[in-house]
Amino acid sequence: MAQQEDVFKKIISHCKEYGFVFPSSDIYDGLGAVYDYGQNGVELKNNIKQYWWQSMVLLHENIVGIDAAIFMHPTTWKASGHVDAFNDPLIDNRDSKKRYRADVLIEEQIAKYEDKIAKEVAKAKKRFGDAFDEQQFVTTNPRVIEHAQKRDALHERYAKAMNDNDLDELKQIILDEGIVCPISGTRNWTDVRQFNLMFKTEVGSTAEGASTIYLRPETAQGIFVNYLNVQKTGRMKIPFGIAQIGKAFRNEIVARQFIFRMREFEQMEMQFFVKPGTELDWFAQWKKTRMAWHQALGFGAENYRFHDHDKLAHYANAATDIEFRMPFGFKEVEGVHSRTNFDLSQHAKYSGKKIEYFDPETNESYTPFVIETSIGVDRMFLSVMCHSYCEEKLENGETRVVLRLPAALAPIKLAVLPLVKKDGLPEKAEEIVRQLRFHFNCKYEEKDTIGKRYRRMDAIGCPYCVTIDHDTLVDNCVTLRDRDTMQQTRVPIADLQSIIEDKVSITSLLKKLI
Ligand code: ATP
Repeated sequence: MAQQEDVFKKIISHCKEYGFVFPSSDIYDGLGAVYDYGQNGVELKNNIKQYWWQSMVLLHENIVGIDAAIFMHPTTWKASGHVDAFNDPLIDNRDSKKRYRADVLIEEQIAKYEDKIAKEVAKAKKRFGDAFDEQQFVTTNPRVIEHAQKRDALHERYAKAMNDNDLDELKQIILDEGIVCPISGTRNWTDVRQFNLMFKTEVGSTAEGASTIYLRPETAQGIFVNYLNVQKTGRMKIPFGIAQIGKAFRNEIVARQFIFRMREFEQMEMQFFVKPGTELDWFAQWKKTRMAWHQALGFGAENYRFHDHDKLAHYANAATDIEFRMPFGFKEVEGVHSRTNFDLSQHAKYSGKKIEYFDPETNESYTPFVIETSIGVDRMFLSVMCHSYCEEKLENGETRVVLRLPAALAPIKLAVLPLVKKDGLPEKAEEIVRQLRFHFNCKYEEKDTIGKRYRRMDAIGCPYCVTIDHDTLVDNCVTLRDRDTMQQTRVPIADLQSIIEDKVSITSLLKKLI
Protein backbone atom coordinates (compact mmCIF):
# COMPACT_ATOMS: atom_id res chain seq x y z
CA MET A 1 0.00 0.00 0.00
CA ALA A 2 2.81 2.37 1.01
CA GLN A 3 4.47 1.56 -2.29
CA GLN A 4 1.29 2.48 -4.15
CA GLU A 5 1.10 5.79 -2.28
CA ASP A 6 4.66 6.48 -3.37
CA VAL A 7 3.72 5.83 -6.98
CA PHE A 8 0.78 8.21 -6.62
CA LYS A 9 3.04 10.94 -5.24
CA LYS A 10 5.37 10.44 -8.17
CA ILE A 11 2.46 10.75 -10.60
CA ILE A 12 1.40 14.04 -9.00
CA SER A 13 4.89 15.53 -9.29
CA HIS A 14 5.24 14.17 -12.81
CA CYS A 15 2.01 15.95 -13.74
CA LYS A 16 3.47 19.22 -12.51
CA GLU A 17 6.98 18.78 -13.86
CA TYR A 18 5.81 17.98 -17.38
CA GLY A 19 3.05 20.57 -17.75
CA PHE A 20 0.01 18.37 -17.24
CA VAL A 21 -1.55 19.66 -14.01
CA PHE A 22 -0.59 22.61 -11.77
CA PRO A 23 -2.10 23.64 -8.45
CA SER A 24 -4.44 26.57 -9.10
CA SER A 25 -2.87 30.01 -8.47
CA ASP A 26 0.41 28.26 -7.81
CA ILE A 27 2.40 31.45 -7.12
CA TYR A 28 0.06 32.07 -4.18
CA ASP A 29 0.67 28.51 -2.94
CA GLY A 30 -2.42 27.06 -4.56
CA LEU A 31 -6.11 26.88 -3.71
CA GLY A 32 -7.48 23.74 -2.05
CA ALA A 33 -8.89 21.17 -4.42
CA VAL A 34 -8.66 23.42 -7.48
CA TYR A 35 -6.21 22.69 -10.29
CA ASP A 36 -5.12 24.12 -13.63
CA TYR A 37 -4.24 22.06 -16.68
CA GLY A 38 -0.95 22.91 -18.36
CA GLN A 39 0.21 22.80 -21.96
CA ASN A 40 0.21 18.99 -22.15
CA GLY A 41 -2.68 18.45 -19.75
CA VAL A 42 -5.08 20.53 -21.79
CA GLU A 43 -4.32 18.48 -24.92
CA LEU A 44 -4.84 15.18 -23.12
CA LYS A 45 -8.02 16.49 -21.54
CA ASN A 46 -9.35 17.73 -24.88
CA ASN A 47 -8.63 14.33 -26.42
CA ILE A 48 -10.55 12.57 -23.64
CA LYS A 49 -13.46 14.92 -24.19
CA GLN A 50 -13.34 14.41 -27.93
CA TYR A 51 -13.31 10.63 -27.50
CA TRP A 52 -16.39 10.84 -25.29
CA TRP A 53 -18.23 13.43 -27.38
CA GLN A 54 -17.70 11.62 -30.64
CA SER A 55 -18.62 8.25 -29.14
CA MET A 56 -21.94 9.79 -28.10
CA VAL A 57 -22.87 12.29 -30.78
CA LEU A 58 -21.07 10.93 -33.84
CA LEU A 59 -21.79 7.24 -33.28
CA HIS A 60 -25.43 7.61 -32.23
CA GLU A 61 -27.88 9.13 -34.64
CA ASN A 62 -30.32 9.69 -31.81
CA ILE A 63 -27.96 11.59 -29.49
CA VAL A 64 -27.39 15.33 -29.87
CA GLY A 65 -25.32 17.74 -27.80
CA ILE A 66 -25.95 21.03 -26.01
CA ASP A 67 -23.90 23.53 -24.05
CA ALA A 68 -25.99 25.04 -21.25
CA ALA A 69 -24.95 27.89 -18.96
CA ILE A 70 -23.38 27.29 -15.56
CA PHE A 71 -25.81 29.73 -13.91
CA MET A 72 -29.37 28.50 -13.87
CA HIS A 73 -32.65 29.79 -12.47
CA PRO A 74 -32.51 29.11 -8.72
CA THR A 75 -35.78 27.19 -8.80
CA THR A 76 -33.97 24.53 -10.86
CA TRP A 77 -32.15 23.41 -7.72
CA LYS A 78 -35.25 23.49 -5.58
CA ALA A 79 -37.01 21.26 -8.13
CA SER A 80 -34.06 18.87 -8.51
CA GLY A 81 -33.82 18.39 -4.75
CA HIS A 82 -30.32 19.82 -4.45
CA VAL A 83 -31.29 22.67 -2.12
CA ASP A 84 -32.79 20.24 0.38
CA ALA A 85 -30.80 17.08 -0.12
CA PHE A 86 -27.42 17.60 -1.78
CA ASN A 87 -25.60 16.95 1.47
CA ASP A 88 -22.64 15.02 2.76
CA PRO A 89 -22.64 13.57 6.28
CA LEU A 90 -19.61 15.08 8.02
CA ILE A 91 -17.79 14.14 11.17
CA ASP A 92 -14.85 15.88 12.89
CA ASN A 93 -12.04 14.42 14.92
CA ARG A 94 -11.64 16.64 17.99
CA ASP A 95 -7.93 15.94 18.39
CA SER A 96 -6.65 16.48 14.85
CA LYS A 97 -9.43 19.02 14.03
CA LYS A 98 -9.74 17.20 10.70
CA ARG A 99 -13.10 16.79 9.02
CA TYR A 100 -14.18 13.60 7.25
CA ARG A 101 -17.15 12.28 5.34
CA ALA A 102 -18.74 9.70 7.61
CA ASP A 103 -19.88 7.62 4.61
CA VAL A 104 -16.34 7.56 3.19
CA LEU A 105 -14.84 6.45 6.52
CA ILE A 106 -17.27 3.54 6.63
CA GLU A 107 -16.76 2.62 2.98
CA GLU A 108 -13.01 2.53 3.58
CA GLN A 109 -13.62 0.19 6.50
CA ILE A 110 -15.62 -2.12 4.21
CA ALA A 111 -12.74 -2.00 1.73
CA LYS A 112 -10.35 -3.05 4.52
CA TYR A 113 -12.30 -6.29 5.02
CA GLU A 114 -12.14 -6.84 1.26
CA ASP A 115 -8.38 -6.28 1.29
CA LYS A 116 -8.00 -8.83 4.07
CA ILE A 117 -9.91 -11.39 2.02
CA ALA A 118 -7.83 -10.61 -1.06
CA LYS A 119 -4.63 -11.08 0.96
CA GLU A 120 -5.75 -14.49 2.26
CA VAL A 121 -6.59 -15.53 -1.30
CA ALA A 122 -3.24 -14.33 -2.64
CA LYS A 123 -1.38 -16.16 0.14
CA ALA A 124 -3.25 -19.41 -0.50
CA LYS A 125 -2.80 -19.12 -4.25
CA LYS A 126 0.96 -18.95 -3.71
CA ARG A 127 0.92 -21.91 -1.36
CA PHE A 128 -1.26 -24.23 -3.47
CA GLY A 129 -0.04 -23.19 -6.91
CA ASP A 130 -1.92 -24.73 -9.84
CA ALA A 131 -4.10 -26.87 -7.60
CA PHE A 132 -5.72 -23.76 -6.08
CA ASP A 133 -9.50 -23.57 -6.31
CA GLU A 134 -10.43 -20.00 -5.38
CA GLN A 135 -14.17 -20.63 -5.23
CA GLN A 136 -13.69 -23.49 -2.81
CA PHE A 137 -11.18 -21.54 -0.73
CA VAL A 138 -13.39 -18.47 -0.20
CA THR A 139 -16.38 -20.57 0.77
CA THR A 140 -14.54 -22.80 3.25
CA ASN A 141 -11.56 -20.95 4.75
CA PRO A 142 -12.60 -19.87 8.28
CA ARG A 143 -10.64 -16.59 8.23
CA VAL A 144 -12.10 -15.56 4.88
CA ILE A 145 -15.59 -16.48 6.05
CA GLU A 146 -15.15 -14.39 9.19
CA HIS A 147 -13.96 -11.33 7.23
CA ALA A 148 -16.79 -11.75 4.71
CA GLN A 149 -19.38 -11.98 7.49
CA LYS A 150 -18.06 -8.81 9.13
CA ARG A 151 -18.03 -7.03 5.78
CA ASP A 152 -21.59 -8.04 4.94
CA ALA A 153 -22.94 -7.12 8.36
CA LEU A 154 -21.29 -3.70 8.18
CA HIS A 155 -22.51 -3.19 4.65
CA GLU A 156 -26.09 -3.91 5.64
CA ARG A 157 -26.00 -1.67 8.69
CA TYR A 158 -24.40 1.16 6.72
CA ALA A 159 -26.86 0.92 3.81
CA LYS A 160 -29.79 1.07 6.24
CA ALA A 161 -28.37 4.07 8.10
CA MET A 162 -27.82 5.95 4.83
CA ASN A 163 -31.26 5.08 3.52
CA ASP A 164 -32.90 6.17 6.77
CA ASN A 165 -30.72 9.28 6.87
CA ASP A 166 -29.86 8.22 10.43
CA LEU A 167 -26.86 10.36 11.41
CA ASP A 168 -26.65 8.99 14.98
CA GLU A 169 -26.40 5.47 13.63
CA LEU A 170 -23.59 6.51 11.23
CA LYS A 171 -21.63 7.82 14.20
CA GLN A 172 -22.36 4.65 16.18
CA ILE A 173 -21.05 2.51 13.30
CA ILE A 174 -17.81 4.51 13.29
CA LEU A 175 -17.46 3.99 17.05
CA ASP A 176 -18.41 0.30 16.97
CA GLU A 177 -15.95 -0.43 14.14
CA GLY A 178 -13.20 1.31 16.10
CA ILE A 179 -12.44 3.60 13.15
CA VAL A 180 -9.68 6.03 14.08
CA CYS A 181 -8.65 9.36 12.58
CA PRO A 182 -5.66 8.68 10.27
CA ILE A 183 -3.95 11.85 11.56
CA SER A 184 -4.45 11.74 15.34
CA GLY A 185 -5.08 8.02 15.62
CA THR A 186 -7.91 8.66 18.11
CA ARG A 187 -11.63 7.87 18.23
CA ASN A 188 -12.57 11.26 19.66
CA TRP A 189 -15.35 11.99 17.13
CA THR A 190 -18.02 14.71 17.06
CA ASP A 191 -21.61 13.98 16.04
CA VAL A 192 -22.36 13.56 12.32
CA ARG A 193 -23.90 16.61 10.62
CA GLN A 194 -25.26 17.28 7.13
CA PHE A 195 -23.51 19.85 4.94
CA ASN A 196 -24.84 21.24 1.62
CA LEU A 197 -22.29 21.10 -1.19
CA MET A 198 -23.57 23.85 -3.47
CA PHE A 199 -21.64 27.10 -3.91
CA LYS A 200 -23.79 30.22 -3.69
CA THR A 201 -23.26 33.56 -5.32
CA GLU A 202 -25.35 36.60 -6.20
CA VAL A 203 -26.52 38.08 -9.46
CA GLY A 204 -27.54 41.71 -9.73
CA SER A 205 -25.58 44.84 -8.97
CA THR A 206 -27.29 46.23 -5.89
CA ALA A 207 -27.66 44.47 -2.59
CA GLU A 208 -31.46 44.92 -2.68
CA GLY A 209 -31.85 43.80 -6.27
CA ALA A 210 -29.48 40.85 -5.98
CA SER A 211 -30.71 37.31 -5.82
CA THR A 212 -28.94 34.19 -4.72
CA ILE A 213 -28.01 31.72 -7.38
CA TYR A 214 -25.90 28.58 -7.35
CA LEU A 215 -22.96 27.38 -9.37
CA ARG A 216 -24.34 24.18 -10.91
CA PRO A 217 -23.27 21.09 -8.95
CA GLU A 218 -23.98 18.85 -11.97
CA THR A 219 -24.49 19.48 -15.67
CA ALA A 220 -27.52 17.19 -15.89
CA GLN A 221 -30.11 19.83 -14.94
CA GLY A 222 -29.06 21.97 -17.91
CA ILE A 223 -30.16 19.05 -20.06
CA PHE A 224 -33.48 18.50 -18.27
CA VAL A 225 -34.56 22.14 -18.50
CA ASN A 226 -33.77 22.04 -22.23
CA TYR A 227 -35.58 18.76 -22.86
CA LEU A 228 -38.58 20.43 -24.55
CA ASN A 229 -36.42 22.85 -26.58
CA VAL A 230 -34.27 20.09 -28.01
CA GLN A 231 -37.05 17.55 -28.49
CA LYS A 232 -39.20 20.05 -30.40
CA THR A 233 -36.56 21.89 -32.46
CA GLY A 234 -34.62 18.71 -33.21
CA ARG A 235 -37.86 16.74 -33.80
CA MET A 236 -36.36 14.00 -31.67
CA LYS A 237 -38.17 10.69 -31.32
CA ILE A 238 -37.92 8.63 -28.15
CA PRO A 239 -35.59 6.95 -27.39
CA PHE A 240 -33.08 9.79 -27.74
CA GLY A 241 -30.26 11.35 -25.79
CA ILE A 242 -28.78 14.76 -25.02
CA ALA A 243 -25.08 15.01 -24.26
CA GLN A 244 -23.16 17.79 -22.60
CA ILE A 245 -19.64 18.52 -21.37
CA GLY A 246 -19.16 21.29 -18.85
CA LYS A 247 -17.95 22.56 -15.52
CA ALA A 248 -19.61 21.65 -12.24
CA PHE A 249 -18.87 22.92 -8.74
CA ARG A 250 -19.12 21.23 -5.36
CA ASN A 251 -17.89 22.52 -2.04
CA GLU A 252 -16.23 19.22 -1.23
CA ILE A 253 -15.15 19.20 2.38
CA VAL A 254 -12.78 16.34 2.18
CA ALA A 255 -10.74 17.34 -0.83
CA ARG A 256 -7.98 14.79 -1.17
CA GLN A 257 -6.29 12.68 -3.77
CA PHE A 258 -5.26 15.35 -6.21
CA ILE A 259 -7.73 15.79 -9.10
CA PHE A 260 -9.88 12.89 -7.91
CA ARG A 261 -12.04 15.17 -5.79
CA MET A 262 -12.06 18.81 -6.83
CA ARG A 263 -14.22 21.80 -6.01
CA GLU A 264 -14.35 22.87 -9.66
CA PHE A 265 -14.39 19.99 -12.11
CA GLU A 266 -15.76 18.96 -15.45
CA GLN A 267 -18.43 16.43 -16.27
CA MET A 268 -19.46 14.61 -19.42
CA GLU A 269 -23.09 13.67 -19.04
CA MET A 270 -25.64 12.12 -21.31
CA GLN A 271 -29.32 11.85 -20.46
CA PHE A 272 -31.15 9.22 -22.49
CA PHE A 273 -34.94 9.63 -22.62
CA VAL A 274 -36.94 6.42 -22.89
CA LYS A 275 -40.45 5.07 -22.70
CA PRO A 276 -41.58 4.26 -19.13
CA GLY A 277 -41.18 0.56 -18.44
CA THR A 278 -38.21 0.14 -20.78
CA GLU A 279 -35.75 1.95 -18.52
CA LEU A 280 -34.13 -1.07 -16.90
CA ASP A 281 -33.36 -2.63 -20.29
CA TRP A 282 -31.76 0.64 -21.37
CA PHE A 283 -29.91 0.82 -18.07
CA ALA A 284 -28.36 -2.59 -18.77
CA GLN A 285 -27.56 -1.52 -22.32
CA TRP A 286 -25.82 1.70 -21.25
CA LYS A 287 -23.82 -0.11 -18.57
CA LYS A 288 -22.43 -2.32 -21.32
CA THR A 289 -21.84 0.52 -23.77
CA ARG A 290 -20.00 2.64 -21.22
CA MET A 291 -17.82 -0.21 -19.98
CA ALA A 292 -16.85 -0.94 -23.60
CA TRP A 293 -15.86 2.74 -24.03
CA HIS A 294 -13.49 2.48 -21.07
CA GLN A 295 -12.06 -0.86 -22.07
CA ALA A 296 -11.35 0.23 -25.65
CA LEU A 297 -8.43 2.20 -24.17
CA GLY A 298 -6.68 -1.11 -23.58
CA PHE A 299 -6.00 -0.75 -19.85
CA GLY A 300 -7.11 -4.32 -19.11
CA ALA A 301 -10.59 -5.53 -18.13
CA GLU A 302 -9.28 -6.58 -14.70
CA ASN A 303 -8.82 -2.91 -13.79
CA TYR A 304 -12.52 -2.09 -14.00
CA ARG A 305 -15.53 -3.21 -12.07
CA PHE A 306 -19.16 -2.26 -11.51
CA HIS A 307 -20.26 -1.25 -8.06
CA ASP A 308 -24.03 -1.39 -7.78
CA HIS A 309 -25.53 1.07 -5.31
CA ASP A 310 -27.28 -0.06 -2.14
CA LYS A 311 -28.39 3.41 -1.30
CA LEU A 312 -30.25 4.80 -4.25
CA ALA A 313 -30.43 8.56 -4.65
CA HIS A 314 -33.89 10.05 -4.19
CA TYR A 315 -34.43 10.08 -7.96
CA ALA A 316 -33.10 6.63 -8.98
CA ASN A 317 -34.51 3.12 -9.41
CA ALA A 318 -31.15 1.56 -10.34
CA ALA A 319 -27.58 2.84 -10.20
CA THR A 320 -24.07 1.59 -10.66
CA ASP A 321 -20.58 3.04 -10.60
CA ILE A 322 -17.86 2.10 -13.04
CA GLU A 323 -14.78 1.85 -10.86
CA PHE A 324 -11.17 1.89 -11.99
CA ARG A 325 -8.17 0.56 -10.10
CA MET A 326 -6.31 3.70 -9.01
CA PRO A 327 -3.09 3.50 -6.96
CA PHE A 328 -5.33 4.14 -3.92
CA GLY A 329 -7.80 1.34 -4.72
CA PHE A 330 -10.84 0.83 -6.95
CA LYS A 331 -12.59 4.21 -7.26
CA GLU A 332 -15.64 5.59 -9.05
CA VAL A 333 -14.92 7.20 -12.38
CA GLU A 334 -18.41 7.15 -13.84
CA GLY A 335 -21.99 6.68 -12.68
CA VAL A 336 -24.77 5.09 -14.71
CA HIS A 337 -28.15 5.91 -13.20
CA SER A 338 -31.74 5.12 -13.96
CA ARG A 339 -33.27 8.43 -12.84
CA THR A 340 -36.94 7.51 -13.50
CA ASN A 341 -39.08 10.49 -14.56
CA PHE A 342 -38.18 12.33 -11.36
CA ASP A 343 -36.36 15.33 -12.83
CA LEU A 344 -38.75 16.05 -15.69
CA SER A 345 -41.78 15.68 -13.40
CA GLN A 346 -40.25 17.98 -10.82
CA HIS A 347 -39.46 20.64 -13.42
CA ALA A 348 -43.00 20.32 -14.79
CA LYS A 349 -44.35 20.83 -11.28
CA TYR A 350 -42.14 23.81 -10.39
CA SER A 351 -42.32 25.56 -13.78
CA GLY A 352 -46.00 24.89 -14.45
CA LYS A 353 -45.07 23.73 -17.99
CA LYS A 354 -46.23 20.45 -19.43
CA ILE A 355 -43.08 18.40 -20.04
CA GLU A 356 -44.24 15.31 -21.88
CA TYR A 357 -43.66 13.32 -25.01
CA PHE A 358 -46.43 12.49 -27.45
CA ASP A 359 -45.80 9.04 -28.83
CA PRO A 360 -47.14 9.03 -32.43
CA GLU A 361 -47.15 5.24 -32.52
CA THR A 362 -49.45 4.72 -29.55
CA ASN A 363 -51.13 8.14 -29.53
CA GLU A 364 -50.24 8.51 -25.86
CA SER A 365 -48.46 11.23 -23.94
CA TYR A 366 -46.09 10.43 -21.13
CA THR A 367 -43.23 11.85 -19.09
CA PRO A 368 -40.11 10.08 -20.37
CA PHE A 369 -37.88 8.06 -18.06
CA VAL A 370 -34.18 8.81 -18.07
CA ILE A 371 -30.97 6.81 -18.07
CA GLU A 372 -27.97 8.98 -17.24
CA THR A 373 -24.32 8.30 -17.88
CA SER A 374 -22.15 10.72 -15.92
CA ILE A 375 -18.38 10.75 -15.99
CA GLY A 376 -15.86 13.19 -14.55
CA VAL A 377 -13.30 14.39 -17.09
CA ASP A 378 -10.73 14.95 -14.36
CA ARG A 379 -11.18 11.50 -12.81
CA MET A 380 -10.90 9.99 -16.25
CA PHE A 381 -7.73 12.02 -16.78
CA LEU A 382 -6.37 10.73 -13.48
CA SER A 383 -7.12 7.11 -14.36
CA VAL A 384 -5.38 7.52 -17.73
CA MET A 385 -2.34 9.08 -16.03
CA CYS A 386 -2.17 6.45 -13.29
CA HIS A 387 -2.38 3.58 -15.71
CA SER A 388 0.11 5.08 -18.17
CA TYR A 389 2.85 6.13 -15.76
CA CYS A 390 5.67 3.61 -15.85
CA GLU A 391 9.22 3.46 -14.55
CA GLU A 392 11.07 1.04 -16.72
CA LYS A 393 14.45 -0.60 -16.14
CA LEU A 394 16.43 -0.63 -19.37
CA GLU A 395 18.97 -3.22 -20.48
CA ASN A 396 21.83 -0.77 -19.92
CA GLY A 397 20.83 -0.44 -16.26
CA GLU A 398 19.25 3.02 -16.61
CA THR A 399 15.65 3.75 -15.70
CA ARG A 400 13.32 5.63 -17.99
CA VAL A 401 9.99 7.17 -17.07
CA VAL A 402 7.52 6.61 -19.85
CA LEU A 403 3.87 7.57 -20.08
CA ARG A 404 2.26 4.75 -22.01
CA LEU A 405 -0.72 6.86 -23.02
CA PRO A 406 -3.08 5.43 -25.62
CA ALA A 407 -1.70 7.09 -28.77
CA ALA A 408 -5.08 8.61 -29.58
CA LEU A 409 -5.08 10.50 -26.27
CA ALA A 410 -1.42 11.59 -26.27
CA PRO A 411 -0.95 15.39 -26.25
CA ILE A 412 1.76 15.27 -28.91
CA LYS A 413 1.79 12.54 -31.53
CA LEU A 414 5.09 13.13 -33.24
CA ALA A 415 8.34 14.79 -32.17
CA VAL A 416 10.55 15.91 -35.03
CA LEU A 417 14.20 16.01 -34.00
CA PRO A 418 17.15 17.16 -36.10
CA LEU A 419 20.28 15.23 -35.05
CA VAL A 420 22.33 18.44 -34.94
CA LYS A 421 21.45 22.14 -35.08
CA LYS A 422 23.29 22.76 -38.38
CA ASP A 423 23.97 21.53 -41.90
CA GLY A 424 20.38 22.17 -43.00
CA LEU A 425 18.92 19.51 -40.67
CA PRO A 426 16.72 21.98 -38.70
CA GLU A 427 15.28 23.29 -41.96
CA LYS A 428 14.49 19.79 -43.14
CA ALA A 429 12.85 19.01 -39.79
CA GLU A 430 10.74 22.14 -39.93
CA GLU A 431 9.62 21.24 -43.41
CA ILE A 432 8.33 17.91 -42.08
CA VAL A 433 6.46 19.66 -39.26
CA ARG A 434 4.88 22.12 -41.72
CA GLN A 435 3.65 19.22 -43.79
CA LEU A 436 2.27 17.01 -40.99
CA ARG A 437 0.83 19.52 -38.52
CA PHE A 438 -2.49 19.63 -40.35
CA HIS A 439 -2.97 15.95 -39.60
CA PHE A 440 -1.82 15.58 -36.00
CA ASN A 441 0.00 17.41 -33.22
CA CYS A 442 3.74 17.69 -33.97
CA LYS A 443 6.54 19.17 -31.92
CA TYR A 444 9.91 20.38 -33.14
CA GLU A 445 12.79 19.99 -30.65
CA GLU A 446 16.45 20.72 -31.25
CA LYS A 447 17.86 21.22 -27.74
CA ASP A 448 20.02 18.56 -26.00
CA THR A 449 21.28 15.18 -27.18
CA ILE A 450 18.94 12.88 -29.04
CA GLY A 451 18.91 10.54 -26.02
CA LYS A 452 17.71 13.31 -23.71
CA ARG A 453 15.11 14.45 -26.19
CA TYR A 454 13.77 10.88 -26.47
CA ARG A 455 13.46 10.73 -22.66
CA ARG A 456 11.56 14.02 -22.55
CA MET A 457 9.17 12.75 -25.19
CA ASP A 458 8.73 9.43 -23.34
CA ALA A 459 7.86 11.39 -20.21
CA ILE A 460 4.98 13.21 -21.92
CA GLY A 461 3.78 10.06 -23.67
CA CYS A 462 4.63 11.07 -27.24
CA PRO A 463 4.13 7.84 -29.23
CA TYR A 464 6.53 8.62 -32.10
CA CYS A 465 9.78 10.51 -32.67
CA VAL A 466 11.57 10.99 -35.97
CA THR A 467 15.22 11.91 -36.23
CA ILE A 468 16.58 13.80 -39.19
CA ASP A 469 20.24 13.05 -39.94
CA HIS A 470 22.66 13.83 -42.74
CA ASP A 471 21.47 10.87 -44.83
CA THR A 472 17.96 12.34 -44.74
CA LEU A 473 19.12 15.15 -46.99
CA VAL A 474 20.14 12.54 -49.55
CA ASP A 475 17.56 9.76 -49.29
CA ASN A 476 14.55 11.62 -47.80
CA CYS A 477 14.24 8.98 -45.12
CA VAL A 478 14.09 9.46 -41.34
CA THR A 479 14.54 7.23 -38.30
CA LEU A 480 11.15 6.56 -36.71
CA ARG A 481 11.27 5.58 -33.03
CA ASP A 482 8.42 3.88 -31.23
CA ARG A 483 7.86 5.05 -27.63
CA ASP A 484 6.93 1.67 -26.16
CA THR A 485 9.31 -0.71 -27.92
CA MET A 486 12.03 1.94 -28.49
CA GLN A 487 12.55 0.23 -31.83
CA GLN A 488 13.88 2.37 -34.63
CA THR A 489 13.11 1.93 -38.30
CA ARG A 490 14.16 3.86 -41.35
CA VAL A 491 11.13 5.13 -43.28
CA PRO A 492 10.57 7.55 -46.18
CA ILE A 493 9.27 10.98 -45.13
CA ALA A 494 6.50 10.52 -47.67
CA ASP A 495 5.14 7.54 -45.69
CA LEU A 496 5.07 9.22 -42.25
CA GLN A 497 1.51 10.48 -42.48
CA SER A 498 0.05 7.13 -43.47
CA ILE A 499 2.09 5.22 -40.87
CA ILE A 500 1.16 7.51 -37.98
CA GLU A 501 -2.21 9.12 -38.66
CA ASP A 502 -4.40 6.06 -38.24
CA LYS A 503 -2.77 5.00 -35.01
CA VAL A 504 -3.04 8.37 -33.29
CA SER A 505 -6.53 9.42 -34.34
CA ILE A 506 -9.60 9.36 -32.13
CA THR A 507 -11.24 7.44 -34.98
CA SER A 508 -8.93 4.49 -34.20
CA LEU A 509 -10.59 4.28 -30.76
CA LEU A 510 -14.10 4.87 -32.04
CA LYS A 511 -13.74 2.00 -34.49
CA LYS A 512 -13.26 -0.37 -31.55
CA LEU A 513 -16.72 0.56 -30.30
CA ILE A 514 -18.76 -0.57 -33.26
P1 ATP B 1 -18.44 10.70 -5.10
O1 ATP B 1 -19.28 9.63 -4.47
O2 ATP B 1 -17.03 10.26 -5.40
O3 ATP B 1 -18.52 12.02 -4.41
P2 ATP B 1 -20.66 11.15 -6.79
O4 ATP B 1 -21.31 9.80 -6.76
O5 ATP B 1 -21.19 12.24 -5.97
O6 ATP B 1 -19.07 10.97 -6.53
P3 ATP B 1 -21.84 11.89 -9.25
O7 ATP B 1 -22.69 12.93 -8.66
O8 ATP B 1 -22.45 10.62 -9.70
O9 ATP B 1 -20.58 11.62 -8.29
O10 ATP B 1 -21.02 12.58 -10.45
C1 ATP B 1 -20.68 11.88 -11.63
C2 ATP B 1 -19.19 11.88 -11.87
O11 ATP B 1 -18.64 13.18 -11.72
C3 ATP B 1 -18.41 11.01 -10.89
O12 ATP B 1 -18.40 9.67 -11.32
C4 ATP B 1 -17.04 11.63 -10.96
O13 ATP B 1 -16.30 11.11 -12.06
C5 ATP B 1 -17.32 13.10 -11.21
N1 ATP B 1 -17.18 13.86 -9.97
C6 ATP B 1 -18.10 14.02 -9.00
N2 ATP B 1 -17.63 14.80 -8.02
C7 ATP B 1 -16.37 15.15 -8.38
C8 ATP B 1 -15.36 15.96 -7.80
N3 ATP B 1 -15.56 16.59 -6.64
N4 ATP B 1 -14.18 16.10 -8.45
C9 ATP B 1 -13.96 15.48 -9.62
N5 ATP B 1 -14.89 14.71 -10.22
C10 ATP B 1 -16.08 14.54 -9.63
